[in-house]
Amino acid sequence: MENLIDLDKMHFIHPTSSIKQQQEEGSKIIFEKGDGIYLTDKNENVYIDAMSSLWNVNIGHGRKKLAEAAAEQMEKLAFSSAFSTFSHEPAIKLAKKIATITPTGLNAVFFTSGGSESNDSAVKLVRHYWKIQGQPNRRKIISLKRGYHGVAAASTSVTGIPEFWGMAGHLMTDFVHADTPYGKGTEKAITSLRHVIEEEGPETIAAFMAEPVQGAGGVLIPPDDYFKEVRELCNEYGILLVADEVITGFGRTGRMFGMENWGVIPDMMTFAKGVTSGYIPLGGVVVSDAIHDVLKEKSEGTLFHGFTYSGHPTAAAVALKNIEIIEQEKLVENSRKMGEQLVKGFQKMKQQLDIVGDVRTIGLLGAVELVQDPKTNKRFSSDMKVAPKVIDALHERGVICRAVTYESTDIICFAPPLIMEQSQIDTLVDKLHDAILFVQKQLGV
Ligand code: PLP
Repeated sequence: MENLIDLDKMHFIHPTSSIKQQQEEGSKIIFEKGDGIYLTDKNENVYIDAMSSLWNVNIGHGRKKLAEAAAEQMEKLAFSSAFSTFSHEPAIKLAKKIATITPTGLNAVFFTSGGSESNDSAVKLVRHYWKIQGQPNRRKIISLKRGYHGVAAASTSVTGIPEFWGMAGHLMTDFVHADTPYGKGTEKAITSLRHVIEEEGPETIAAFMAEPVQGAGGVLIPPDDYFKEVRELCNEYGILLVADEVITGFGRTGRMFGMENWGVIPDMMTFAKGVTSGYIPLGGVVVSDAIHDVLKEKSEGTLFHGFTYSGHPTAAAVALKNIEIIEQEKLVENSRKMGEQLVKGFQKMKQQLDIVGDVRTIGLLGAVELVQDPKTNKRFSSDMKVAPKVIDALHERGVICRAVTYESTDIICFAPPLIMEQSQIDTLVDKLHDAILFVQKQLGV
């Protein structure tokens, strides 16, 4: 049999990868199978999947019920179009289910195949909404620095991490970024947002789009009052609030949706990832009744926006089964409970190690920051690659995790499956402790 590593190098352009490094070194790990919170590679090494792969395998790996739901639907009707006046039962039922579990007043769903498509769709929908409302100048989208919203045309520009703009050449026009509350607090972040709105002209702003918790930016949990103030500011200027719940949806933060942590209801919500726990691609945009009413009353002609796979019947059937499992196994509650245990473990570890700065969780979404001096929060210089070293040490100890190093931060992110048990939390924290201690000694701290 031909060597998989060689074939991989020859033929597979990996997403978000250094193509040069991939060519030189090849893939580090080739995964073979998954079961619960564990992944196993081709060499039979077992890892805790502490990131639920890409923040998405919420119910854990190897669930036969999802495979059965897909097989059953594929045998009956694997695919048919939902364009225009065609429809099918799985998508109708899923739309209804999502309307039921999202906060009050969000009751109509447009389906996509992932997060980037959902956010691009949201941008087009808000602009269309303002156009048919007679305010076509409201085109601008404000989002947060360090926010991540995907890599399609508009979602790249909504993203507030400059590293992601490179391949697009430059940002599209009419996308503006305000300060994140991370490290600043609500007052300064709201002042920055108000300033941006005033500078740009409130009558040109279509929407403010943000993740309830900035995931790829480093699990940046906002202060409790931040989104309430954002909601008020949006109301004051008549700006739509779009919540990107791609990571935070479906139980990740200990609530079904992230915004519920602060009792804030957005005008639109985008989702993907956890809706199917990654077993099959699916995403979407949920719109408020007020927006839906305007679309129903004022849209003239065809809405020229739709993907071949909008409302894919097999994906919808898998999503329905996934949501049923989340509800039946009370995984939202478990996420909240286990998140509290995880942060206790982090806090204990912080007392014992010298380079651990801020630690935080909200449900099973968490982060550990590594700093030179926890008292002053002085960061390591980025060429020391402290977080990537900890990630390597974690791999060696059987944990898959992710580092965020934008703006000279060293953040280790955690988003384990929502089925985590106390003993697994303890093992994860022990392995993390061991990995950080190893790197700490290497650094001579
Ligand atoms: N929005 C958020 C908050 C994300 O974290 C991601 C992906 O990580 C996306 C959007 C893009 O989703 P996708 O990769 O499915 O296009």
